[in-house]
Amino acid sequence: MAARKKKSAACDVVVVGSYNQDMVWQAARLPAPGETRMGRFSSGPGGKGFNQAVAAARQGARTAFIAARGNDALGERAADTARAEGIDARWQQVAGEATGTAAIWLDAAGQNSIVVAPGANSLLAPAHVLAQRETIASARVLLTQHEVHPVASLRALQLAGELGLLRIHNPAPQQDGAAYRALLAECELLTPNESEFAALVRAHGAEVEASAIASLADEDLHTLCRLLPVPSVVLTLGAAGAFVSHADPTRFHDVAAAYRVPGQSAHVVDTTGAGDCFNGALAASLACAVDLALATHVAQATRCAACSVESHGAAASMPTREQVGRRFP
Ligand code: ATP
Repeated sequence: MAARKKKSAACDVVVVGSYNQDMVWQAARLPAPGETRMGRFSSGPGGKGFNQAVAAARQGARTAFIAARGNDALGERAADTARAEGIDARWQQVAGEATGTAAIWLDAAGQNSIVVAPGANSLLAPAHVLAQRETIASARVLLTQHEVHPVASLRALQLAGELGLLRIHNPAPQQDGAAYRALLAECELLTPNESEFAALVRAHGAEVEASAIASLADEDLHTLCRLLPVPSVVLTLGAAGAFVSHADPTRFHDVAAAYRVPGQSAHVVDTTGAGDCFNGALAASLACAVDLALATHVAQATRCAACSVESHGAAASMPTREQVGRRFP
């Protein structure tokens, strides 16, 4: 199903997800356990939900963001940052809980290791999500991930389903358990990366190494995708781009049931947020150009994500539509 047309949507994309203040330590190489290394520090907005909202907003989609934050200085900064990005943020302020934070280690090759302290994110209440019914009803596309309470995501997906939105679920970061598995039944489009995909198909009885996925034959990848209880899968493959698998390609104006979209070559400085950029840009493209084939939207998302790996930061690295146009004319 393509995103339905609406005459006067108050927003195009609604993201239900996390906000984290990212604390980034950069060193030539990451320290081994017990080792100390010298490096540089920076800090900026992040969290999968917020990154995806910024990516969608900078692509020109009117974007709403439903999230939780603490009653603290980082929470105030979160609200200011969302306003500055032109995002319509619907915050739940959680008393006695800190705004989410993430400690990110980054090496000279752009690879990262991350520890997240979710704080208020894990307390995002289903009731707060349901109270945003009017905002959700006004959108074309809903985007969810795995960094807030899964029942909050589930209620958002269910409500969006009732209201006829296109629902994209990004099953990141990888989480196990029935509450997370239940989210798969409530989306039209699932967007795992290779390791999330390997874990998902393992839960459905198939063994595949994450590192072997990109080199599998398209036919085998399609068979694995079809094990998952979702109509369509967009599997991201890092620098190699993405693989698309549909139960019914016509639902997304596609012709082929399975195909690859190659990645764009990029001068990588920091891959933090590449997946988030891809998801936010995909949602924006689907919401704003409803008649195009999914293949076209995925190609645009790979261009946006390639731009994001060429600069530092999470939300900060999301490119504008103009920047993407200049980089990939
Ligand atoms: P991350 O955790 O780094 O945010 P991810 O593991 O969720 O990313 P990936 O599959 O690594 O997701 O990347 C998402 C998309 O970003 C890819 O489909 C691709 O379009 C783009 N991308 C990632 N890495 C590169 C790269 N080195 N060069 C060009 N594009 C890239």
